[in-house]
Amino acid sequence: MADVRSAILRGKRAAGRLHRSFGMRERIEADGGRIDVFDTIVRSGVPLLFKPLDGLLGVFINEPMPGIMVTTKRGLSVQRFTGAHELGHCALGHSPSLDDESILRRSPFNSAPDYAQQELEADAFATEFMMPPWLFAAHFQRHGWTPAVMTDPMTVYQLSLRIGASYEATCRSLMRPGVAVIARKTVDNLLGVQPRTIKKALLGDYEPPDWRRDVWLLTEKDEGAVIEGSRSDLFVLNLTEHSGSGYVWTFDELNKAGFAVVRDEREGPDGQTVGGHVMRSITARSEGPQHGRMALAERRPWLADGAPLASFCVHYDLSGPEGEGISQAERRRLLEAA
Ligand SMILES: [Zn+2]
Repeated sequence: MADVRSAILRGKRAAGRLHRSFGMRERIEADGGRIDVFDTIVRSGVPLLFKPLDGLLGVFINEPMPGIMVTTKRGLSVQRFTGAHELGHCALGHSPSLDDESILRRSPFNSAPDYAQQELEADAFATEFMMPPWLFAAHFQRHGWTPAVMTDPMTVYQLSLRIGASYEATCRSLMRPGVAVIARKTVDNLLGVQPRTIKKALLGDYEPPDWRRDVWLLTEKDEGAVIEGSRSDLFVLNLTEHSGSGYVWTFDELNKAGFAVVRDEREGPDGQTVGGHVMRSITARSEGPQHGRMALAERRPWLADGAPLASFCVHYDLSGPEGEGISQAERRRLLEAA
C-alpha cells in the first residue's frame, strides 16, 4: 500500500529545492509568467527529447544515464505537465517509467489511489513544481484576484493560461492543501464548464479556424508581463479608451509585429460624453514571428506625433507546443553559446 503522506512530502521537498536553486520565485514575482519546465530539465543536465510517442505521454530512463522523452502529440500544457512528472522521477532518483494519460487524472492531493509509490511521488512533484502556492499568490496579486473570483470559469481559465497548466489541472490545484482557495463543490461547478464555452464568450461573433487554440484576455493588469503560449493563440485586448477627450487606441505597431486584428469593438458609456470613456475590445491573431513585443498606444489620431496618453505592452513567446527533437529552451541555449 502506497504511503500518500510521505509521497507528498518527498515530492514537495524536491520541487521546492529546484525552485530555490534556480531562483524561480524571485523572477516570477518580479516579471510574472510561469515555471519553465523544459528549461529546468535542460539546466539540470538531463537530456530531453520530444517524439511522437504512441500511447504514452512521457518516458523517464535512468540507465546508462538519466533521460526524458515527452510526446509531440499533445498541446503545450500537457507537454509541460508530462515534463514535470518525468523531472520528478529524475529528481527523486526513481526507476525507469513509462507514463500514459493516467498521470493527468490522478493526484495524491485528491485521493489515495493504489499505485506505485514512485508514481505518487512524481505526481506530487509535478503538481507542486508547476503550481506552487506562491505562483498562484503572485498572479492573484498582479491581477487583484481574490478567492471569491475563482468561482468564475473565465477567471480560472485566464489563470490557467498564465501559469501554463490545463484548465482542469488549475481547477483541481486551487483546492489542494496549501493553496485551498476554493472548495470541492466549486471545483465540480468549474469542471462542468468546457473551456470551449469560455472561449466562445470571449470571442463573441468571431469564429476561429478551430477551437483548440487558447484565447487570452489581456487587460491593463498584464502591462509589462511575459505571455507564453502557442502559435495559434488568440488575444482579446480590453483597454479603457478615453474617447470623450478624443483619444483612441491605435494598433499600427500591433500590425507591424505581425498581428491581424480580426474583431474591433467599443462598449460602455456614450463615447461622445465629454470626459467619458469606453471599453475598447480588440481581438488579434499572430501571423508573424513567435517571439516579440505586442504594443499599442492611446493617442489623438489627428496629432500623430503627440505623446500617447497611455501605452500597453506585453512580451510574448508563442513557440509552443514543442515539436520533434530537442526543446526550444535548449536550442536557445545552444545558439547563445555558439
Ligand atoms: Zn511516472
